[in-house]
Amino acid sequence: MSENKLIPFDCRDGFIWLDGQFVDWKDAKIHVLTHGLHYGSCVYEGQRAYSGKVFKLREHTERLYRSAAIMDFKIPFSIAEIEAATKELLLKNGLVDGYVRPVVWRGPEQMSTSARNSKIHMAIACWHWGKYFDSSASKGIKLTIADWRRPPPSSSPFEAKSSGHYMIATLSKHQAENNGFHDALMLDWRGQVAEATSANIFFTQGNTLHTPIPDCFLNGITRQTIIALAQSKGYDVVERVILPEELDKFDECFLTGTAAEITPVRSINNYEFTPDKICQDMLLSYQSLTQNMENKND
Ligand code: PMP
Repeated sequence: MSENKLIPFDCRDGFIWLDGQFVDWKDAKIHVLTHGLHYGSCVYEGQRAYSGKVFKLREHTERLYRSAAIMDFKIPFSIAEIEAATKELLLKNGLVDGYVRPVVWRGPEQMSTSARNSKIHMAIACWHWGKYFDSSASKGIKLTIADWRRPPPSSSPFEAKSSGHYMIATLSKHQAENNGFHDALMLDWRGQVAEATSANIFFTQGNTLHTPIPDCFLNGITRQTIIALAQSKGYDVVERVILPEELDKFDECFLTGTAAEITPVRSINNYEFTPDKICQDMLLSYQSLTQNMENKND
């Protein structure tokens, strides 16, 4: 993330698509009395473009729609309009490999818990974003177990990629970074292994991949891609309850996510893993998939 730290996000050059128009990057502003800012009425996506095309653009756009529907929003643009805007935005910004961030939020018409009269706004931005983790992560990242837990499905609509869900993620990530770790592993409300702060998690035992059941956290598009990829390569994939006490039984561990891509994990607190053949296989297979034109939406 180092290159992104240098220039604040509101001071960059280029274009942002805002409510149907391409505007100068620095003019893509909203009012401080915006419902999405105060009440977390905001959903977003994180996508990556490879060689000029967004990987799994349709899946991401459909998830944005689902997230909005769960939050009781109606996005005022069609999937086709959003996808066309995304492609044009990449071209206008001359971005070939990078990150794309569509975001949808409630506007300033009403400042109260009830927000029925608020207008729904949407923006899409994109920027260059190399590796999610810094270069010290090349031999695998170090995780610690977060104090915060993923809430039960009865306490939050976990299938929505909504901003509110990232409050405990940021708290957990900061705590991890303050203590010299790259990221935090979050348990769920039952104390079962859930995911990292913005990526899903896999473990290996022999030739079998183990990953938690996404019943209270995001079932990532990369996670689903990796499950299908691993199965197509002959690995067994088991989705099951994983307890923190089991971590010493696993050989390898890696994270999956659009930004994190496939990131090997070297340790979780005192549990150590050795990124090896399966990490490498998944990493290279994912790389070749993201570069493969047939798997992209034209
Ligand atoms: N969990 C969380 C909390 C996330 O923010 C992300 C990133 N979107 C993921 C998992 C991985 O999802 P995806 O593979 O769809 O990017």
